[in-house]
Amino acid sequence: MRRSTFVCLMLAVGSVLAAQAPAPKATPPRAMRLYVLDCGLLNISREGVERYHVTTTEVGETRMPVPCFLVAHPKGTLMWDVGVIPDDEVEKAAAGGARYDVNSTAAAVVTRTLRGQLAAVGYRPADITYVAISHAHKDHTANLNQFAAATWLTPRAEREFMWKPNNERVEPRFFSALEKSKWIPLDRDEYDVFGDGAAVIKAAPGHTPGHQVLVLNLTSVGKVMIAGDLYHYPAERGFRRAPPDNEFNVAQSAASRAKIEEYLSASKATIWIEHEWAAIAKLKKSPEYYE
Ligand SMILES: [Zn+2]
Repeated sequence: MRRSTFVCLMLAVGSVLAAQAPAPKATPPRAMRLYVLDCGLLNISREGVERYHVTTTEVGETRMPVPCFLVAHPKGTLMWDVGVIPDDEVEKAAAGGARYDVNSTAAAVVTRTLRGQLAAVGYRPADITYVAISHAHKDHTANLNQFAAATWLTPRAEREFMWKPNNERVEPRFFSALEKSKWIPLDRDEYDVFGDGAAVIKAAPGHTPGHQVLVLNLTSVGKVMIAGDLYHYPAERGFRRAPPDNEFNVAQSAASRAKIEEYLSASKATIWIEHEWAAIAKLKKSPEYYE
């Protein structure tokens, strides 16, 4: 082997090792950061699309992304929504990713672990300060057990919904460890996570009893609302159709949508619909971040 070839080979090996090694432990940033993580996707059947009162033609792209979000604030960290298939199962899966049927209309595929993506930016699940979910459906909760050491920010009604017997909309094995976690009940319209208005959780019930959204005031991007499943497809919002019939409470969902739309107009916040393919596809993904 020529020496130049050998040097190139060693550089290539070095860069692969660097990509796999976890980053050094992160230090608190000076300004709040938002990392968008890839927690998989959902393939949705025609029936699954139509449950949102839109047609496959109206929505165009029927697949839904499953993003997870890490907020790194000078005073601590917040994990928001934690995926659809637990990391342990993703690690064991063959090439092509882990698969899981959320229900008869939504089939999940996950190729990357949440903890691997966190490690790449210097965080371990055990070090996260707060964990919150938009709501407890299976596609938002898969890795909750890893965050049992965090303080859980949840409406009391959602917590009760999670341990309700025979509740088919949740997967108790995803969150059994949280039963003993420290938790703060969010029983008002707004909860200011770090006390400075930078990250505010707002109540938006109806999709589930304690569905909620996260508003971040980012210094360079402005106000962003990570809207959980207030909507699934942007067409639902554009056409102002009624919420799906299988909402926990359809009337409450409709009222939450109206209230949030008023808030969006007044605050000039940008809404990110978590399952909107085109919107999530164009976001910067971790290790890049928004500030
Ligand atoms: Zn969802």
